[in-house]
Amino acid sequence: MGRYTGPSCRLCRRQGVKLMLKGARCESAKCPLERQWRNNPPGMHSWRRGRPSEYGIRLREKQKVKRFYGVYERQFMRYFRQAERQKANTGAALLSLLERRLDNVVYKLGFAPSRAAARLTITHGHIYVNGRRMGIPSYLVKPGDKISVKPSEKSVKLVRARLEELGEPQLQNWLSLDMAKLEGTVLAMPTRDDVMIPVEENLIVELCSR
Ligand code: SF4
Repeated sequence: MGRYTGPSCRLCRRQGVKLMLKGARCESAKCPLERQWRNNPPGMHSWRRGRPSEYGIRLREKQKVKRFYGVYERQFMRYFRQAERQKANTGAALLSLLERRLDNVVYKLGFAPSRAAARLTITHGHIYVNGRRMGIPSYLVKPGDKISVKPSEKSVKLVRARLEELGEPQLQNWLSLDMAKLEGTVLAMPTRDDVMIPVEENLIVELCSR
């Protein structure tokens, strides 16, 4: 499937949950899911649609996670196969892998207003991992990794402006941030509880294991 270029809010309205795709707007009253008259699925006569099938329910869960983390089908299935090979619960392992993506970490550290913006920030070379430039948004961080901003005036100014606009991020236990140095540290592997979206991962496992 090609890249989705339509309105981001439409994806949230389809899922019925905030996927936080548009940065500061998602926290404001302008978010369609905050307004009763827009808080419905997209498309004409959406309210007339009947009950979703068992398959439809599972597909929605999978699409929700893919859209939340901004990954495509092929990438997602690669994560799923990787999660299946782990000893841990497959659903939890899948979510942990997605949480460890560098674009997700850069977003959580407050260096970018959304995961999409974080991907651009990384590919444009503004982010370093362990002191070296890392231009791959799908890089999986591990405990001990240091995520910092390129030591150039342009990069530092860009990230400082974003942090000022967004405010100091509320970090989960597996991450820490040194605001003065603009350096984040991965303290541990993320767990299922660190996933901020309501999702029933067992439904995704049921769908993808077929
Ligand atoms: Fe749009 Fe963000 Fe609200 Fe989603 S959470 S509907 S992307 S404003």
